[in-house]
This record gives sequence, structure tokens and C-alpha cells, in this order.
Amino acid sequence: MTEITGAPVCPPAVTELRDRVAAFVRERVMPGEPVLDAGGPEAATLLRSLQREARAEGLWALPLPAELGGQDLPLASYAHVAEAEGASDHGPAALGSAPLLDALMLWRHGTPAVRDRYPARLAAGDLRACYAMTEPGVPGTDPFLTATRAVPRDGGGWRVSGRKWFTSAAADADLVTVLARTDGEAPDREGLSLLLVPARTPGFRVVRELPVLGAGGQWEIALDDVAVDAAHLVGERGEALAVAGERLQLGRTLRCLRWLGQARRAFDLMRERAATRTGSRGPLGDLQLIQRHVFESLLALRTTRPLVYEAVARLDAGLDARVEVGLAKVAAARTLQQVADAAIQVHGAEGLGPDTPLPALFRTGRAARILDGPDELHIASVARRALRMP
Ligand SMILES: Cc1cc2nc3c(=O)[nH]c(=O)nc-3n(C[C@H](O)[C@H](O)[C@H](O)COP(=O)(O)OP(=O)(O)OC[C@H]3O[C@@H](n4cnc5c(N)ncnc54)[C@H](O)[C@@H]3O)c2cc1C
Repeated sequence: MTEITGAPVCPPAVTELRDRVAAFVRERVMPGEPVLDAGGPEAATLLRSLQREARAEGLWALPLPAELGGQDLPLASYAHVAEAEGASDHGPAALGSAPLLDALMLWRHGTPAVRDRYPARLAAGDLRACYAMTEPGVPGTDPFLTATRAVPRDGGGWRVSGRKWFTSAAADADLVTVLARTDGEAPDREGLSLLLVPARTPGFRVVRELPVLGAGGQWEIALDDVAVDAAHLVGERGEALAVAGERLQLGRTLRCLRWLGQARRAFDLMRERAATRTGSRGPLGDLQLIQRHVFESLLALRTTRPLVYEAVARLDAGLDARVEVGLAKVAAARTLQQVADAAIQVHGAEGLGPDTPLPALFRTGRAARILDGPDELHIASVARRALRMP
């Protein structure tokens, strides 16, 4: 039977793994979402227990390199798993895929000291990392204006001062990768570097949580004259945007896959509701205006998915994927917002209340249109490239 979300179909070699991950997320992670969403010690205990189960079942760290203790699943195969895993926001953390971006970045661009010390521990879930580029008072879409400054320290290394915000998971992080200006002045296009800051370093401080449409997980942080080792420079001095660009390409693509999984989840809830909610004229699904929600949602899913997989294929082949990732990112964010919105509508007031995951799915879809670069940035960048295409 054709899969509801259409092409591309999951390759037979990956189907069993994808289905096991989907079952794990559906049966173990989703029931724990209220606890995991609330955060705090109870959430941490539940997450650790899910991680133990994932390890025991051979589902741990599937996309991470084998050198770091992962299972080396190539991106083209992992993509199908990522959709299943990402159907819950907590899936990637429960299954050990969440550290992929940080572990890979430090593994590829860290100094020998950093490579020895951190990526494998991140992959094992023993350390947690976050990534801090966006700053209060400065447009995140224009990194050349970054105000955080790192100045050389007597005897080597750096002293970093600045403020970052909307840093996901900063309060629980052991390591924070910080974008800072090491040379020149804003808005010079050169002179930005990435520095790895251990969160326990004096001068590092979590300022406050920034709930996004009511949900936690984003934080404002301050760095006041924080001393950072010379060995904690990530990539070359002044080359931050090359490393960040590599990270963002993969990061955006992984997010698109997870958003597809969440959009599929909202779509399934909508179908179930349309089939089971019955009024005096029969089931909701018999009403043409409800059928229109189903049609538009399926159309969005089926047209977005090939775009996301085109980005996956180009990244997997090591090709320039800027146009494909830009198209996929805008389409996947819109799709999640649209399908979650339609599913809420079909559920009536219940869709806005606490008894379904639809408010969380809608919130993620809305935030998706801003995080990792707002829609406008990708639209402008894809359009500029399209205008130059032969
Ligand atoms: C849930 C969530 C998680 C996040 N996690 C992180 C994180 O972990 N680390 C991190 O560093 N950041 C994170 N962010 C921040 C996010 O990456 C930034 O919000 C985003 O890059 C936009 O930057 P900004 O908010 O400063 O908006 P601005 O740059 O001020 O842009 C505001 C608006 O201006 C318009 N605009 C901007 N540029 C253009 C353009 N070229 N053309 C037309 N219009 C334009 C758009 O409408 C845009 O939405 C997160 C944000 C959210 C919501």
C-alpha cells in the first residue's frame, strides 16, 4: 500500500528499523510527553530511563559516527528514521540523536584537545551542549553585527563577554558554543569565531528562561569576562561562519525531517477525529469542508516531503544544497503549521486544550518559521540563487 505521506518510500533495508523507532516513540516517549515537557528532576529521570531502554534495544545514537559510539547510519537511511523519531520533540533526546550536530562539529572542527575530551561524551549522553549565536538587541539574521566579543588573554586563550538569547537547552548544558567577534568591528564580514565555553566557567550565567508561546526550553545567557582556553577555539580564527554554515545545513535538514514526522502525527489525529466524531448528519469526515482540510494537509505533506528528501540526497552526496535546504526549510515549517492548524480546527475546542499534542505541534510549526533563520531569509536567498541559475 502507498504510504500516506507518499514518495519517497522507505527503502526495505531501513523499514524494520524505522518501524521499531516509530513504535518506541509512540509507545514509550509520547506517553511521557507531559512529564518531559514540564522539565525538572522528574523529566530528567524519565529521560534517563528512556535512554537506557533505547540503548538496550539497539536504537541508541543511530546517526552518530561509530568512532563516537554511534551506529553510523548514513543520512539517506537515517532520514526515514528521523521522521519517526521526530514525531515527538523528545524523540531525538530519548534515542541519542540529539547530540549529533554538536558532536560532529567538535569532532570535525575541534582542536585535538577538544576532540579527545568532548564529542564521545556528548554522543554517550554524559555531557550536554548548546549553541549560542542569537543575541538580544541584534538581528540574528545578520551575524556580522554580533556584539559578543572575545579578546586575547595574557598567557593565551580568550576572555569572552556578551549576551545570547533563545539558546535552546542552555540551562542544562555543560558546554556552550558561542559565536563571538575576535577581530575587526561590526559589520566586518571577517573576524567572527566560535568558542567552546564550559558552562561551569566563572562569569557564565543563565539569566532567565524565555517561554515560546508558553513552552519552556529557551534561555538567555550572559558571559561576563569568561576565560576560555586557546584549545577551545572551534574551527579557525575568523572562520566561524563556514563552520556554522555546515552545521546549519545539516541541522535545518534534520529539523525538516522531524517537522514532517510531527505534521504526519497531526494529520493522523485529524483523520482519526474526522472518522470517529459523529453528529446527527454522520461522521465529520463526510462533510466536504472537513474533506478540504484533509486534502490541503495531504497536499502540503506530499509536496513538502520530496523537497526535504532532495536536500537529504544532495547533502548525502556532499553537494551544495543551499537552494534545496532553503526550499525544504520554508516548506516543512509551513506544512507543520498548516497541518497542525487544520487538525486543531477539526478537533474544535479540544484541539486547543491540554488533552491532545496539537497545541505543541502548532507551536513548533509557528516557531519553525523563525528559528534557524526566518522564512524571509531563506526565500530571499533561494530567490537570489534561482535568478542566477543557468
Ligand atoms: C524556539 C526557538 C529556538 C531557538 N534556538 C536557538 C538556539 O539554540 N541558538 C541560537 O543561536 N538561536 C536560537 N533561536 C533564535 C533564532 O535562530 C533567531 O530568532 C532567528 O535566527 C532570527 O533572528 P532574530 O530573532 O534576531 O530576528 P531578526 O534578525 O531581528 O529578524 C526579525 C524579522 O525581520 C525580518 N527579516 C530579517 N531578515 C530579513 C530579510 N533578509 N528579508 C526580509 N525580512 C527579513 C523577518 O520577518 C524576521 O522574522 C531560536 C529561536 C526560537 C524561536
